[in-house]
Amino acid sequence: MLKKWIVAVVVIGVLLVSAKVLFFSVAHKKVEVALPDALLSKQETFRASQQRSKALVDQGIGNLRKRDVNAALTDFIDAVRVFPPNTQAYMMIVKVYLSTRQEGMMYETLEQAGKSFPWFDKILDVVGDEDISKIPLPTESTAVHIAPFKDDRKAAVSFMFDDGEANVYSGVLPLFDKYAFKATIPVIAGQTGPVATSFRGSWADWKDAAKRGFEIANHSMNHHDLRTVSPADYKVEIEDARDLIEKETGQNVRSFVFPLDGYGDQLLARVLRSHAVARQPSLLRTVYNRAVTIIYGGPHFPLATANRLMDIAVARRLWIVAESHGLDQRGSDHYKPMSVEFLDKHLAYISSHAGDIWVDTFYNVFEYLKLRKSSRVERKDVAPARAEVILRCNSSEKTLPQPLTVVVGAGKVSPDAVAAHLPDGGALRAWPCAGESVCVEVSACEVPVSVSWGDNK
Ligand SMILES: [Zn+2]
Repeated sequence: MLKKWIVAVVVIGVLLVSAKVLFFSVAHKKVEVALPDALLSKQETFRASQQRSKALVDQGIGNLRKRDVNAALTDFIDAVRVFPPNTQAYMMIVKVYLSTRQEGMMYETLEQAGKSFPWFDKILDVVGDEDISKIPLPTESTAVHIAPFKDDRKAAVSFMFDDGEANVYSGVLPLFDKYAFKATIPVIAGQTGPVATSFRGSWADWKDAAKRGFEIANHSMNHHDLRTVSPADYKVEIEDARDLIEKETGQNVRSFVFPLDGYGDQLLARVLRSHAVARQPSLLRTVYNRAVTIIYGGPHFPLATANRLMDIAVARRLWIVAESHGLDQRGSDHYKPMSVEFLDKHLAYISSHAGDIWVDTFYNVFEYLKLRKSSRVERKDVAPARAEVILRCNSSEKTLPQPLTVVVGAGKVSPDAVAAHLPDGGALRAWPCAGESVCVEVSACEVPVSVSWGDNK
């Protein structure tokens, strides 16, 4: 349904300016066709839906005036269903969720808005600092807790460049290198070959990217919506694609990205037989309920909006999964592209907040959150300014695949005296962190870690 509407929006948009002749491009070849009568009636349907949607928003505003919030919300949601690009409808839904403090529903609305073509910037503008700060944040134990993000940062962002466009290798990766950030590139195995095309990078590109620390994810063999594919073809689309990517890049594939975001719980179960994670928002929220997947790029996603999203992420402790595609490329149509200038300035903005924002691959952030979710930490005070902490892990592993940041409430901290040791004397990375605490990087399970932060002579 949504896909049909996206097509309709694009078709009608072109139609309105080009009268009775429609130009559309197939693989950047311009084709000229006469406009069939069927499209004229599509245009009428489009306009009728647009008007119906607008009327529903007006009706919803009337219900808000009568203080019937539930009826209003139903109207606004119907307005989106009838006409998915209706910007005002999303703005009203976000406003209602914000004022009724349904923060999670508000983020789900932002996720949904990105999938259509409304003015995302106007929708995000509705989320004001003052309103959102009234919603309480989850609290952690001040004695000891595992930080929600590595190094006790306040937010995380994982950039994903779906489809493995050639310009991602040539244009995006150098920008990530410039700021020493990593990203994830979900590639379409069956559309990747030994030589790059104007649309897709080559195997050599992704092998090199993997070597430089970027994550190559599985975006299926043929990019079909798996909800419409026969189960007989799942093996090719899921496991064979993974095997091919691993063979060509030399990197283990951990993450799966559903083509066209065509996911569902049964498909997810199938994918998780051979992958550690798939990009399905409901799955991400099982390890961290503040995971928000936002589609980046396109005309209504300016730099100010992207930076504002990071501010919100920091204030609200979000993991933003930035679902991106490629760069603007003259002469060919790409889905929601970004300009080099946009991406460079956005990464510079994030870099200037590096103490607050953790930028890492999709899998690395997911794995951290999953380990955090399945572990807990205990504290025992052994002397003034000294405590023992033990990480209890829900696995048979003695060492976690990546360390968790443990935050120990300390009171007065002498920065020079901060230290952490394992029983065998091995030193762990430890540093003074937020609110008179000591942060320690711990990967050893069931082992007492001695943490000290003052003069204990
Ligand atoms: Zn895709």
